[in-house]
Amino acid sequence: SKTETLLEVNNIEVIYNHVILVLKGVSLKVARGGITALLGGNGAGKSTTLKAVSNLLHSERGEVTKGSIVYRGDHIAGLDPADMVKRGVIQVMEGRHCFEHLTVEENLMTGAYTRSDGRGAVAADLEKVYTYFPRLRERRTSQAGYTSGGEQQMVAIGRAMMAKPETILLDEPSMGLAPQLVEEIFGIVKSLNEQEGVSFLLAEQNTNVALRFAHYGYILESGRVVMDGPAAELRENPDVKEFYLGMS
Ligand code: ATP
Repeated sequence: SKTETLLEVNNIEVIYNHVILVLKGVSLKVARGGITALLGGNGAGKSTTLKAVSNLLHSERGEVTKGSIVYRGDHIAGLDPADMVKRGVIQVMEGRHCFEHLTVEENLMTGAYTRSDGRGAVAADLEKVYTYFPRLRERRTSQAGYTSGGEQQMVAIGRAMMAKPETILLDEPSMGLAPQLVEEIFGIVKSLNEQEGVSFLLAEQNTNVALRFAHYGYILESGRVVMDGPAAELRENPDVKEFYLGMS
């Protein structure tokens, strides 16, 4: 069967503060139903690429100065984030960004703010989030600021799920987490992908884990895609092994 492209980033340039050219012509595709990984070291431009798609660059004085971003055939560059959410695209930012003074459950419910399909549907999805993240059910009345880093990452993904997204842009989910928790979170991402049909564009420095869970990968270096391919091929590529997987 032919794979449908959901998101297409065509040759984008991003400039910060009018002068700093950070993305130098990045192109990538996200297939419907897939997990696409955006890999590369610190400062390669992964977060910038995600923020360009979800139009979150303005607050950082960044701007897309060239290229196009197309979602299901529509040009989406410049749409406001609420409009993006309505189209089914939501970003989970690096660093979790929970509302620390709200409970876990209140945090999850904030994800449903753009929905108009009624309380019953929202309640059913909250229940669904708790089946994917049993720990969040246990902690549902805890203040989010007092939960662990892993739990806060789960809250951030769970909150995104409450918007009923078609595509989640997930920035560095492994950041600061112990290996076992990274496995747990990637395992849940995989089930959300397989069972709920959510497509993912995942920015990750942890190449090893990302290439085990993703279907396709792009490697960024200094604002350019230097390599791309099916994850299984990238895992076996000698350059990827040497420079990104820490074994030669
Ligand atoms: P990291 O994992 O460290 O977030 P990354 O691959 O996501 O890395 P970006 O955060 O996209 O990289 O950063 C790419 C480059 O853009 C870096 O050189 C960074 O210093 C620069 N940069 C990021 N944000 C800004 C900003 N607001 N103003 C100026 N330069 C910025």
